[in-house]
Amino acid sequence: MHVGFLGLGAIGAPMAAHLARRGPLTVWNRAAERATAFAARHAAAAAATPREAAAADVVITCLSTSADVEGLLDGPDGLLAGLRTGTLFLDCTSGDPATSRRIAARLAERGVAFADAPVSGGTNGAEAGTLTIMVGGDAETFARARPILSAFGKRIEHVGPVGAGDALKAVNNALLAVNILAVGEGLVALAKAGVAPRLALDVVNASSGRSFVSEVLVPERVLTRTWPRTFRLALLDKDVGIATDLAEQMGVDGPMLALAHRLLGAARRELGESADYLDPIALLERRSGAEIRG
Ligand code: NDP
Repeated sequence: MHVGFLGLGAIGAPMAAHLARRGPLTVWNRAAERATAFAARHAAAAAATPREAAAADVVITCLSTSADVEGLLDGPDGLLAGLRTGTLFLDCTSGDPATSRRIAARLAERGVAFADAPVSGGTNGAEAGTLTIMVGGDAETFARARPILSAFGKRIEHVGPVGAGDALKAVNNALLAVNILAVGEGLVALAKAGVAPRLALDVVNASSGRSFVSEVLVPERVLTRTWPRTFRLALLDKDVGIATDLAEQMGVDGPMLALAHRLLGAARRELGESADYLDPIALLERRSGAEIRG
């Protein structure tokens, strides 16, 4: 089965690397040097255009936003010019439901099945091939998608129709964002109050306030002051925006989500588009004059 993979970013590249070990793979990236470097390291061909990468049995996209995916559809070198009837199109972007539904409708006109299939588990999970994947689409499309997605996914769930994967992923990341902000505020306050951050975290992690942020992210990246750059703050902000839109569209009052979106948006404007998603904690430390280290 020939796969075309578009979007060799921080998470797309390690996902594509698993596919390269499974069978024929063609990759495309907007900055072409990323695709040629990938092809030099893995068993894959680099395509010059999205159209070329789309001439495959399965096409997978992993771009920043759904709008970026939609933007690749048209034009003489666009995806639609290369897609064949019967191709399966999986979008692993953390996208937005409305745009995914529009993309699905356009692809259906060409006899191409679509599923949104956003992933969770970070770049470590992508490298290990243990991502959680939330699939939105019909049952037949999910059945076709599962064996392909198993190349880089461990828990692969069919969560509803097209757009449902995007919606669930956005809410997941909104919960992550709320945790990052709250754990940062709480630990900086404790550090200023004279409680050693490592001890504070150990106690929280044996208590009811623990979370993935307190158990993994802060101990591995903040306490150690390593701050690896694996997931852009701009992308997390985008996800929280999708979750706030979802709550609004569903008529759900969502002040927590809205506040997280406002705070992340302010941090993004201050720190820039290449900042990492944990950098708001560093910003808080600078403003407060205390560090979570130990
Ligand atoms: P990066 O910022 O590292 O890479 C983004 C990718 O999208 C690059 O290949 C970039 O191309 C491409 N791209 C962006 N805009 C366009 C466009 N208009 N046209 C064509 N290509 C475009 O992002 P990640 O790899 O980290 O994330 C990709 C998706 O996965 C996002 O939706 C993100 O939210 C999600 N995600 C990321 C995780 C992570 O830990 N990093 C975890 C889970 C989900 P170029 O190289 O030319 O800039």
